[in-house]
Amino acid sequence: MHTDLDTLQKEEEKYLCSTYGRYPLAIKSARGYTLTDYEDREYTDLLAGISVCNLGHCHPEISRAICGQAEKLVHTSNLFFQKEQLDLARELLSTCGLDKVFFCNSGAEANEGAIKTVRRYMRMVRENNRFEIITLKNSFHGRTMATLSATGQEKIKQGFDPLLPGFVHAEPNDEAELRSLCTEKTAAIMLEVIQGEGGVVPLKKDYLHFVQKLCAEKGLLLVIDEVQTGMGRTGRFWAHEHFGLNPDIITSAKALASGLPMGAILLKDEVARALAPGSHATTFGGSPLVCAAALKTLEIMKRDNVVRMSAETGEYAREILNRVRERTGDMIEEIRGMGLMLGVKLSFPGKRVWRKLLERGFVLNLTQESVLRLLPPLNIPREQLDKFAADLEKILEEEKKAKES
Ligand code: PLP
Repeated sequence: MHTDLDTLQKEEEKYLCSTYGRYPLAIKSARGYTLTDYEDREYTDLLAGISVCNLGHCHPEISRAICGQAEKLVHTSNLFFQKEQLDLARELLSTCGLDKVFFCNSGAEANEGAIKTVRRYMRMVRENNRFEIITLKNSFHGRTMATLSATGQEKIKQGFDPLLPGFVHAEPNDEAELRSLCTEKTAAIMLEVIQGEGGVVPLKKDYLHFVQKLCAEKGLLLVIDEVQTGMGRTGRFWAHEHFGLNPDIITSAKALASGLPMGAILLKDEVARALAPGSHATTFGGSPLVCAAALKTLEIMKRDNVVRMSAETGEYAREILNRVRERTGDMIEEIRGMGLMLGVKLSFPGKRVWRKLLERGFVLNLTQESVLRLLPPLNIPREQLDKFAADLEKILEEEKKAKES
């Protein structure tokens, strides 16, 4: 088959559901922060597969770990004890204050499982009838029926009515409203500390402390969706560490197994009591193959101080992008985010800028129409960010001139 974009597009229209608005690019291979297309053109990857390939593409040690495990044992099922899950669970739990893990296959599945756990915990452990979960407007928690219902963005819910009952959406950073939404039905508050799909919007520190206090006061569970923000992305292993929070449940996925599909629910012992034998399960979750990839990922992160790297490179990226902001007048409203989860909020719709960046060889994402979202591999060299900042500045100057003329 020809690999030019026209042919790929035609074949795709014929064979695939047209759910994705594709970028005009097809990647043949990738290594580190470099993507190569079918014409052998190279791109700097500032997206890392949407915060999945945090250690860069095809990291040789991870590729070796995957191949080695693939030759030994790929899958048995969760009917058997699995040493690989235990090795991984021990390491993963050592990154946070939680006690137990349930392995699954994606972010949505981790959040779906967290929602089920909240409900079952209230019913079976606390023996009450609380079931409602407060989530935030502009949040994103996934595309399954429950996680779509939890998500606070109307545009992706169209046509799927009736959604699952039991979710209330609060305005982010509004303490009074959050308090007023708590009733005798409320079971949990679930949030991302930085709303990723929502445009890289960090919640306010005071608000997050208020959420923590409110949960303690009302006996609610605090569920933090770290699917995008976890695994060192924000300069701490988990983003909630920046705020000193003490969640009852964390959900993880994306970068967990460096590109193999894996999700995890991490829970306090008390909450994990809700998950009795037979209450929740998955065929593929935590297979030896994905566990080997995840375990190697954690090992490399620890050995190479990747979390610190993310914090330091993130600080550097923020500095140089802020300089671009100062030099280009009012083209950039704000540089926001933490570590290497950064949003460049433009003061105008960003499609043309995004397109020009792609033409110049930079792959990143445009979210909420005017936010250039950067989620590069956490080990990206600073020179690549320098090149990006210089090109962004040139493009913004061009756009400014075009606007003025
Ligand atoms: N939660 C958050 C915060 C996300 O960013 C995403 C995906 O972007 C999800 C959940 C859903 O994850 P998945 O696409 O693996 O189902």
